[in-house]
Amino acid sequence: MQYYQHILLAADYSEHAATVAAKAQALANLYQAKLSIIHVLDNIPMPDTGYGTVIPLEAGSDNVLLETEKARFILYCDRLGIDPASRWLVWGVPKQEIIRLANQHSVDLIVAGSHGRHGLALLLGSTANSLLHHALCDVIAVRLLQDVT
Ligand code: AMP
Repeated sequence: MQYYQHILLAADYSEHAATVAAKAQALANLYQAKLSIIHVLDNIPMPDTGYGTVIPLEAGSDNVLLETEKARFILYCDRLGIDPASRWLVWGVPKQEIIRLANQHSVDLIVAGSHGRHGLALLLGSTANSLLHHALCDVIAVRLLQDVT
């Protein structure tokens, strides 16, 4: 039985992102599902760009920060072997854009970390919390614990 057909990896490049990515890849293999990836840009100024804009990866621009982000995203996706047609670099608020793109592309499972760049102090990060409350599909929040040494 094919439980999941389209899995979306929410990637934030945080310290634990590789753990989250590995789980998304393993699930995609297990269910023979399509694997897509989203990274939401919320940390660079984009004056002429509306929230929710999917940034075209193939077209160049004179925004140096954006070009740096694009190169980083493309390299990250290449390393994970994700199909170029399934890569979404989006400008906006992470929790909103992840859910919006998931709905738009009939994603049936979102894989995110329980925490990201916003620290491990809370039980759940704010993006993870919002995805679990508001996404219309299943969500896996990969439990990320602080290393105990
Ligand atoms: P947070 O709740 O913000 O600490 O992050 C929890 C998880 O949400 C991360 O491990 C990522 O999987 C996802 N996430 C957070 N920020 C982003 C972002 N800008 N783009 C894509 N995914 C994100």
